[in-house]
Amino acid sequence: MSKAKRDKAAKPSKNASIRRSYRSKQRSTSIYFLLWAVFAAFSLLIVLLFGFMERVLITQTYKQEAAIELNEKGDRIERMIGNAFENGLPPEYRGSLSTYIRTLSSANGVDIFILSAEGEVIAPQVPTIGGDDEMAGLFDFGDRIRVLLAALEEKQSSTVIYEGEGEYVYGAEMRVYGQDMYLYVSKSLDLMVAASEQMGSRMVVVAIFIFILAFAVSSAVSGWLARPITEMTKKAELLARGDFAVDFHGNDYGQEMVALADTLNYARDELSKTDRMQKELIANVSHDFKTPLTMIKAYASMIVEISGDVPEKRNKHAQVIIDEADRLASLVGDMLELSKMQSGIAELKNETFDMSAYLHEIIGRFDYLKETQGYTFEVDVEDGLYTAGDELKLGQVLYNLIGNAVNYTGEDKQVRISLKRTGERIFRFAVTDTGAGIKPEELPTIWDRYYRSSDAHKRPVKGTGLGLSIVKTVLERHCFVFGVNSEVGKGSTFYVDFPLSEEQTNGDQ
Ligand code: ADP
Repeated sequence: MSKAKRDKAAKPSKNASIRRSYRSKQRSTSIYFLLWAVFAAFSLLIVLLFGFMERVLITQTYKQEAAIELNEKGDRIERMIGNAFENGLPPEYRGSLSTYIRTLSSANGVDIFILSAEGEVIAPQVPTIGGDDEMAGLFDFGDRIRVLLAALEEKQSSTVIYEGEGEYVYGAEMRVYGQDMYLYVSKSLDLMVAASEQMGSRMVVVAIFIFILAFAVSSAVSGWLARPITEMTKKAELLARGDFAVDFHGNDYGQEMVALADTLNYARDELSKTDRMQKELIANVSHDFKTPLTMIKAYASMIVEISGDVPEKRNKHAQVIIDEADRLASLVGDMLELSKMQSGIAELKNETFDMSAYLHEIIGRFDYLKETQGYTFEVDVEDGLYTAGDELKLGQVLYNLIGNAVNYTGEDKQVRISLKRTGERIFRFAVTDTGAGIKPEELPTIWDRYYRSSDAHKRPVKGTGLGLSIVKTVLERHCFVFGVNSEVGKGSTFYVDFPLSEEQTNGDQ
């Protein structure tokens, strides 16, 4: 591979590297995975909840009910058997206690035994079991009688109910023919255990089903949610590359997406506005630079070729050069000033000065227009109004506002300027022209840097579009109130409210 080729391969395109450098450094997880994880966790939670309900609540309830039922049945059986011992068996049992007990057992769905204190089965008579160990185990009450005796002892009562191994037991002490015997009524829990196991396996099926469902739903939902985001990301990349024609829309995706799309559309409009303004600024500034430069060149050539030897003409031509150079300098100065002020580098002075006197001086700078172009200035300035602030910069504000009024006033070339107290500690500067006024939709934008109305080219005096931006920046930094009232076809009044200086208010008294 040649060196040039290697270099090219090593360096990604500028756009790609810009995009990559703005990509989040954090490792992020896809919305697909996040949603799936949430759904999966949620379904797991539901399954666990079901499991818990089944294991604990349902089993518990079942057991409680079984205990209550067994208690009732045991109590009844105890009374019936006690009665049989006392008064003899009902005649139909023909003296067979075992038959009586077996009948009671099957009628109540429980096992009934009468046991001795050693665990021997006294009734019903147990069939001969032979060598069947399993069957023999059913009638071996050795351990069970110990548990029953311990339960009775613990409860200090003649009857007890408790959960034994795989069964619920109702036990009661009985005294029959002078001997201690025990009624042992039990209800097997096998059925419940079987039902619970069946439920458990059903739960596994339900869990698998829920997981599959969660996967399907989360895939569908995350796809649906991610689609507008992916689309917007692609469009935002286009916007970042300067394509202001992109249109974001979040319809059909909920109000949050609509709000995001609206915000992105707003950002696009603002970016395109700034972009347009900057292009216009370059056009305007180049034009404004070109005019004085052309003049300077033309007059310098004239001095060299024609008027060099004629002092009177030469001085006149040199003066034009000086004036145009001044214009250029002030244009560059304005731009520097504005950027310094907006970036916060420029410090503002705070001095108390006579605004009335200063305004007269500023108005004086427009005197030449009266004589050469027939402008009339109606001046109504109250004397001796002092304020505190940066004198030079505030002077520039008034100069710019009066300059605009001159530029934009009507055919009658009239400009009205006033400076008057409007409150105890406040006075207002206002400058009114009789021009075309400003359209309401343009009012908020005229203060923007580089903004110039669409018909700016028709103006007799060319500006840079920085005037009002300087006004706004200076006044905002002073925290002074300012604004404009304008009526299309009638003219505009720009105003600034100055705080009456402390010194002055004191001086009045
Ligand atoms: P410039 O006057 O150099 O264009 P400014 O920042 O002073 O720049 O003004 C910005 C815009 O505000 C002007 O282009 C014009 O459209 C509007 N404007 C300012 N003053 C007036 C006025 N007195 N009457 C009408 N429009 C005005």
